[in-house]
Amino acid sequence: MPDRRRYFTRYIPVAVVLLLTGVLTVSCYHCSSTPKPEPALPAGVPIVRVLISRSVESVNIGTTGPYEIHADGSVVARSMSSLPEGKLSRRDGRWSLHAAKYTADELTIVAVGQSCVRVGSGLYRSKVVFNADAVRPGSPKSGGGMLAVNHLDMESYLTGVLARELYKSWHISAYRAQAIAARTYAFYEIRTFGQTHRYDLRSDQSSQVYGGFSAETDKARRAVETTRGIVMAIGPEGNERVFKAYYSSCCGGMTNSAYVLSGPPITSGPLAGGQKCDDCKASSRYRWPAVTVPKKIIFRALSKRYKQIADLGELKTIESVKEAGADDAFPRTVWINVVGTNGKKVRIRAEDLRISLLRDGQTQGLYSMNCRIRDTGEAVVFDRGRGFGHGVGLCQWGAQGKAIRGCSVQEILQSYYPGAKLFRAY
Ligand SMILES: [Zn+2]
Repeated sequence: MPDRRRYFTRYIPVAVVLLLTGVLTVSCYHCSSTPKPEPALPAGVPIVRVLISRSVESVNIGTTGPYEIHADGSVVARSMSSLPEGKLSRRDGRWSLHAAKYTADELTIVAVGQSCVRVGSGLYRSKVVFNADAVRPGSPKSGGGMLAVNHLDMESYLTGVLARELYKSWHISAYRAQAIAARTYAFYEIRTFGQTHRYDLRSDQSSQVYGGFSAETDKARRAVETTRGIVMAIGPEGNERVFKAYYSSCCGGMTNSAYVLSGPPITSGPLAGGQKCDDCKASSRYRWPAVTVPKKIIFRALSKRYKQIADLGELKTIESVKEAGADDAFPRTVWINVVGTNGKKVRIRAEDLRISLLRDGQTQGLYSMNCRIRDTGEAVVFDRGRGFGHGVGLCQWGAQGKAIRGCSVQEILQSYYPGAKLFRAY
């Protein structure tokens, strides 16, 4: 979505702390300094598992046509008619729907034929699996809530993504480029995050925005159909691997390295950044005015996410540790030191400061960390701001600008993921 915000909620830091030159570095559980091998190419249409709801006590569900209900994999109900809307709830290890009770860990509503499953106000293809709210299989179940996860084929999933990620009026080539990037990203997540979780992707800006069947548009379907099975990959011939094809709303003039998000510095490859992009100037966030945030708000927002920061007393200042920009007029702060009134410092990624402030909800207009950070005493000012989102990989506004200029889908993708090859995996 052009006004997207990528929260990276899955990357909530979990106390991986490194004592380095007197500064605590708070990192994320996925931020290993040793890159993991990238997954191989898909060999068939993958099934995607998308988290559409969690931590709710109950939810209204139904179907638009024929359905089956499975309890722990066994069929417990089926009908050629639709399932009337009713409240699904879970209590004491049992599911309750209309007058029926099901003793099972997992309850699945399967849409048969052209039917869809209704969950809340949304319609979803294929099936929706309900589990007690435990994100990882085998982990302790939390009190009473549930997860709702839509299982469906990759191509149908992408149609529900594109319709939410891009404006309806945008060029079909921008849609096709986005389809290939989103397919690559999703496949990477299936093979990594999804291997140890009950779902592969969330349905919000923390991964890819997904609106299900209800969001689908003809243009989104067309873009997905005409790029069916195409993903991007890197690596030597015969040993190509997919990579995490990040993208964001507006890069502000130059793409960022994925180093701003996680992992070690990257000097080459499709996520190394540094690609000039003048095609996103139509975005209202290409440049944005200074944002002033009181230190108390910054400290509160960071303390919620980082225990180490809560122990700093109060916020004395924010220090920009490194500016990995191409020139001084284009600063890229990757790391910041959060300095406490007790004299201690905690180092975090600048992007995590932005995400913390977004979640806190009191700060408007801090659209990226492509900005300068200034201390004014009571507050911190973020000025010379450029772009919206993390700026890594494809720039959605830039893809639209390039498409209008007549660039092909391949040219658009090459400009944002240099060196990546296109493959039709199925
Ligand atoms: Zn751009």
